[in-house]
Amino acid sequence: MTWPTIPKDNATRSAANLTDAVRAQFNWEDARDMLDGLPNGGLNIAHEALDRHVTAGHGDQVAIRWISKDGDRQDLTYAGLCADAARFANVLSEHGLKPGARVYSLLGRVPELYAAALGTLKAGMTFTPLFAAFGPEPIKSRMEIGEGNVLVTTESLYRKKVAGWRNDIGSLKLVLILSDGPMPENCVALRPAMDAAEDRFETAQTKDDDIALIHFTSGTTGKPKGAVHVHGAVVAHAATGRFALDLKPGDIYWCTADPGWVTGTSYGIIAPLVNRVTMIVDEAEFDLDRWYGILQDEAVQVWYTAPTAIRMLMRAGKDAAKPYDFSNLRFLASVGEPLNPEGVVWSRDVFGKPFHDNWWQTETGGIMIANTPEMDIQPGSMGKPLPGIEAGIVNTENGAVRECKPGEIGELALRPGWPSMMRAYLNEQARYDKCFVGGWYLSGDLAMRDKDGYFWFVGRADDLIKSSGHLIGPFEVESALIEHDAIAEAAVIGLPDETAGEVVTAYVALNPGFEPSEALERDIRGLARKRLGAAVAPREIIFRKQLPKTRSGKIMRRLLKARELGLPEGDISTLEADEK
Ligand code: ATP
Ligand code: MG
Repeated sequence: MTWPTIPKDNATRSAANLTDAVRAQFNWEDARDMLDGLPNGGLNIAHEALDRHVTAGHGDQVAIRWISKDGDRQDLTYAGLCADAARFANVLSEHGLKPGARVYSLLGRVPELYAAALGTLKAGMTFTPLFAAFGPEPIKSRMEIGEGNVLVTTESLYRKKVAGWRNDIGSLKLVLILSDGPMPENCVALRPAMDAAEDRFETAQTKDDDIALIHFTSGTTGKPKGAVHVHGAVVAHAATGRFALDLKPGDIYWCTADPGWVTGTSYGIIAPLVNRVTMIVDEAEFDLDRWYGILQDEAVQVWYTAPTAIRMLMRAGKDAAKPYDFSNLRFLASVGEPLNPEGVVWSRDVFGKPFHDNWWQTETGGIMIANTPEMDIQPGSMGKPLPGIEAGIVNTENGAVRECKPGEIGELALRPGWPSMMRAYLNEQARYDKCFVGGWYLSGDLAMRDKDGYFWFVGRADDLIKSSGHLIGPFEVESALIEHDAIAEAAVIGLPDETAGEVVTAYVALNPGFEPSEALERDIRGLARKRLGAAVAPREIIFRKQLPKTRSGKIMRRLLKARELGLPEGDISTLEADEK
């Protein structure tokens, strides 16, 4: 079965109107016109996200509608968030911190997290958000690598995850605690300090190349890297938010990613605020009825989420969505993992709009390849490079770079030069240098470009399977498997085999109402053979209640393989609890 093209939605005009002519004329220098700029000509993310909107008279617009775990709503206006960011910046300065200091957060999605992020940037300091569900060791090691000076967290997170090692980190001077509970020794209560601070702060005169953020990668393929990003990246956040997410001032927008991952910062804080939308921030974790309820009750217009969540919605079936009204939704986008074509088609049935897949990485700082509103969607494709992005498929055998022909699989590469590109891997110069060959940045992902210029994800370079002379990408096999009614999620790896080199092995998690059985396995294998051919179809199907994933929702194929082969598990600091 091939997936039919989904024609572009002519009923909704996009903010950017990316016609071929607009694409051809685009350059990053002109894109700065979307922004204000500092008096000295430099850029500061907080200035673009907050200050300039308040100055322009939009202070009363809601910037964040926050929904607490209990379902209470709290609105924060642009003026209110700007004042809170200023208070946070003042608290930092009052404690003697200077521009360049490194501020870490370890918080759930609470309003203070957003004030801390923007306040840190306003003060010209570097912000590093950590995911609150990390254990003590991953927090400590990230703090150590980044030589953090400040940590903002809650009393209970501090007690459970920080107190035990705090004194081992010499750089850590200030711990700000958000809570009403007893204040741990040597810590400062955040809320009272903010309440006492001035609500104005002159935004630091940062330059484009000044460091703004350090973001750790998801750790899917190995030890997480700390990608260093600069204030000038905001040009890319502004443009890509408009091009790939269709953000318009005043939109109601919901990004479900946590700021502990780059999506939750680039598109959960910066791009939406720079584009002056109203963001929904939900403190709680995924819950089907809660999510459908938010889309309906908050009248969400633009929604940015991830395949792992989409597959959970699909698992519950279309009927679960029936009671809800999604008529306000205008644009749906997905990132983080390959989006199976079935998910695209499913979403059009359920929401009346298809998901638009887009691709990028922590390193690229912003969206690089996307299905934009002006394009017909080929379900299963990541789309085409955004304006200002030159992407290629390359082969780097023997140190030489060769561009691949349409249809040929190679490594997805980008020509450096867009504003949100990382400037370093923290303390890992050699690892960083290895990413650049022959004028290209190598992404570590394998992909294919078709004759029409659409890019198709194949798999991580490390996950490619070589079986009886065939090169097999896990994504293709996984997408075929989840077409089976019984299968909710699939992860495919290659295991060593004397004759074939490697054999394709699939791990699958089943939908409710299905139990593992030999008959089911036969049936799945039959479908896979029909869809993929005998050479590519998995030889073995292994049933699992759940698949090992990073906390950002990415399937860890390397871990399945290591466990299968009895090899060391490697860095699993970002692993969600799973069954072995
Ligand atoms: P690490 O680099 O530490 O192994 P990671 O690569 O998973 O972790 P991120 O930067 O969070 O860390 O994720 C980026 C990766 O996610 C991409 O390189 C790609 O493999 C995958 N990805 C993101 N979006 C898509 C997409 N639309 N389709 C396919 N894969 C995607
Ligand atoms: Mg990566």
